[in-house]
Amino acid sequence: MSDCIFCRIAAGEIPADKVYEDERFVAFRDIAPKAKVHLLLIPRRHIESLEVLETADEALAGAMLRLLPRLAREAGLEEGFRTIINTGPGGGQEVPHLHCHLLGGEDLPGF
Ligand code: 5GP
Ligand code: ZN
Repeated sequence: MSDCIFCRIAAGEIPADKVYEDERFVAFRDIAPKAKVHLLLIPRRHIESLEVLETADEALAGAMLRLLPRLAREAGLEEGFRTIINTGPGGGQEVPHLHCHLLGGEDLPGF
């Protein structure tokens, strides 16, 4: 999707402060961090949101989840971290390309 900002970041067409990439995923720093560490983990493939994940995507989704603690560790979040996936307008999703927020590095507000 050439008009999707996260597809363009994954493709290197828009600069981002990338902290990780492999053949399936890219992680980069959020442009407007809500915590000392605020990363976004995305699949390279354009998947709009959790709503449209299919059975065939289960391995991808599992790999995405398993990447999170590794990214957290590499970001120095030894004490733990918070993950958030906003879905659809009711969930406050602003960018329609599946992404998981990874936050930490300071006391996070109660939830
Ligand atoms: P959402 O509200 O969709 O769950 O979160 C989208 C996130 O993407 C927001 O935290 C926002 O700051 C971040 N974001 C939006 N545009 C860009 C961008 O161009 N670059 C980076 N690094 N982050 C972005
Ligand atoms: Zn996209």
